[in-house]
Amino acid sequence: MRKRRIAILGSTGSIGRQALDVVARHPELFEVVALSAHSQAELLFDQVRAHRPRLAGLSAGEVPLPVDVRGSQWFFGPEALSQIAGLADCDDVLVSVVGMVGLAGVLAARQAGRRVLLANKEALVAGGHLVMSLCPPSADDPTLIPVDSEHSAIYQCLMAAAHNPYERIILTASGGPFRDFTSKQMREVQPQDALRHPNWQMGPKITVDSASMFNKALELIEAKWLFDAGTDQLEVLIHPQSIVHSMVAFADGAVLAQLGLPDMRAPIAFAMAYPKRIVSGTAPLRLDQLGTLQFEAPDTERFPALRLAVQALRAGGAASCVLNAANEVAVDAFLKRRIRFTDIAAVVEDSLQGLGALPADSLEAVMEADRLARDRAGRQITRITLEDT
Ligand code: MG
Repeated sequence: MRKRRIAILGSTGSIGRQALDVVARHPELFEVVALSAHSQAELLFDQVRAHRPRLAGLSAGEVPLPVDVRGSQWFFGPEALSQIAGLADCDDVLVSVVGMVGLAGVLAARQAGRRVLLANKEALVAGGHLVMSLCPPSADDPTLIPVDSEHSAIYQCLMAAAHNPYERIILTASGGPFRDFTSKQMREVQPQDALRHPNWQMGPKITVDSASMFNKALELIEAKWLFDAGTDQLEVLIHPQSIVHSMVAFADGAVLAQLGLPDMRAPIAFAMAYPKRIVSGTAPLRLDQLGTLQFEAPDTERFPALRLAVQALRAGGAASCVLNAANEVAVDAFLKRRIRFTDIAAVVEDSLQGLGALPADSLEAVMEADRLARDRAGRQITRITLEDT
């Protein structure tokens, strides 16, 4: 069998490294043809030495190249990602970069006709309409396979549904470290508390997003685009053990769920080897040892993120892009101790109120909405810091 040729954008991040772990387990199945990172040059050099990709890039800018990595063609700077996505001679492009840069990467990969394995949130949240217009549905040869554990679960449940329409999508959420906190306790939360996720090992931005449930808000928006869901078909269910990765409900009352231990290598391997199932390194699930799985409704009073996501979905246009950008600026300010944890949602709400009706019909329009939301969120954060002192 011919190897699947894969380009990995964001290969030094958590998802990228785990994808390379899956490749290392199956050298007979995969060939790495391109690797890119933002600024972790030394780790990228090691990956290039191990996989010898034809293309490589660093989006943070040019650095001196060690002699033994010069066999690859190198790209530097903000355009590197889209250049590699467009030029890589490959079957699949795994987009596992963090941030808005993922949108341009996804669009470039699709314009070049590559299948996108999507582990970047911003592409669909900010540019869902643009991305999906380049991703026609195809049962035999999918153009876009989600890597996020929840969306991978929903994708797998829908595969098992033999093209029957679904009634509801139920995204599970661990509830994060503050699931049982009072509103008062949440006001006092410090960055180090928010950076401790009970189940998943992830980067700092997504870990804070999990604690605030903005991660689930972004995932609701992604699910709308990926599965063409109406806002009232999307539900969130708190499930602290993170074993049921998400569920889909059908007209006959049946609910299909996908289960597994919380290990991202499972959804990564699923996307990379689709439609085959291969060893991913994830340990087997033993439900008898777990005993109990819990479920409860989310509290949108303490976690306004879910309410704001629904508001953004109903507003349409660039509202989701605004939500994402304002959240990113607010999380950064929280990690720098400039605002409180509970201010994150307030900053996002303010941006949605002021900028909720911008268009998102081109990459330029999306980038402009993103810029305006960052500006407004920045001004709102300054206001909050001044009030607090
Ligand atoms: Mg997720």
